[in-house]
Amino acid sequence: MKELVVISGKGGTGKTSITGALATLMPNAILADCDVDAPDLHLLLNPDIQKKETFSGGKVARIDKTKCNECNVCRQVCRFDAITTSFAVEDMSCEGCGVCVWNCPEKAISFENRNSGEWYFSKTRFGEMVHARLFPGEENSGKLVTQVRKAARELGKEKNADYLLVDGPPGVGCPVISSIGGADLLLVVTEPTRSAIHDMQRALDLAKHFNIPATVCINKYDLNKEMTGEIESYCADRNLPVLGKIVFDKEFITAQIQGKAVIELDIPGLKTSFQFLLNKILEILPAEGKEPLDGTRK
Ligand code: SF4
Ligand code: SF4
Repeated sequence: MKELVVISGKGGTGKTSITGALATLMPNAILADCDVDAPDLHLLLNPDIQKKETFSGGKVARIDKTKCNECNVCRQVCRFDAITTSFAVEDMSCEGCGVCVWNCPEKAISFENRNSGEWYFSKTRFGEMVHARLFPGEENSGKLVTQVRKAARELGKEKNADYLLVDGPPGVGCPVISSIGGADLLLVVTEPTRSAIHDMQRALDLAKHFNIPATVCINKYDLNKEMTGEIESYCADRNLPVLGKIVFDKEFITAQIQGKAVIELDIPGLKTSFQFLLNKILEILPAEGKEPLDGTRK
């Protein structure tokens, strides 16, 4: 199974719309949404959840009131003001540092696993999908992203899938690093704005650092053709293939409102652009043991 991860270096470039469109066309693929902080691929693909798992991303302190003598030491040593005057731990404030556990003279404080989020196996109209959600205020260190990818890879193996299509998180921090390690190909989605180009460069630097082959897709390329030319020159100088250019079309918004991938609106020009993009991807990334595919869904 070959793994394609779609990233952007920043939010708002249309990364998820492009992933959603590719999901409708990609042959024999498992889908994964690794944007666990603010997942939105599910808004386009409307997954039917088949199985739900709890994700524990850290520890939280718990005070055993039967052992506590209310000496106040824990409140004095907690730098996060996470312990109330009635000696209860506020989960949202506790950072799980363990200082109170080590300092409590009565050994009244222990650590519990913290429920930080959930992850799901779902069915969508374009194949099976693994996705997740971090609970509000929980830190995204990339562990849940790693969990989603691991589960998606196992599912892909079980289902004998040819591809794993991953919607990566925005930015270039730990969650993105967790989403791209060991991938076969990256598609960096950018748009012709100064900030998007800067973020694309950071994403490409990251890909280079981890030695992962990277390609580029320019979304809304027609909004600033001069800057689009700048992106193409930048990529050409570095031997980075620009696999597709997608026009700006207000139907992307219509599709989001309707909970559909833009391909499903059957706009001929857009469909052709995405088919072209997919064909280019499949040329670079043919399914294992198979001739390069022509990009049509089986
Ligand atoms: S340090 Fe231990 S004994 Fe003292 S108030 Fe805190 S929990 Fe209770
Ligand atoms: S584990 Fe750390 S943050 Fe949490 S209550 Fe104890 S001292 Fe405070």
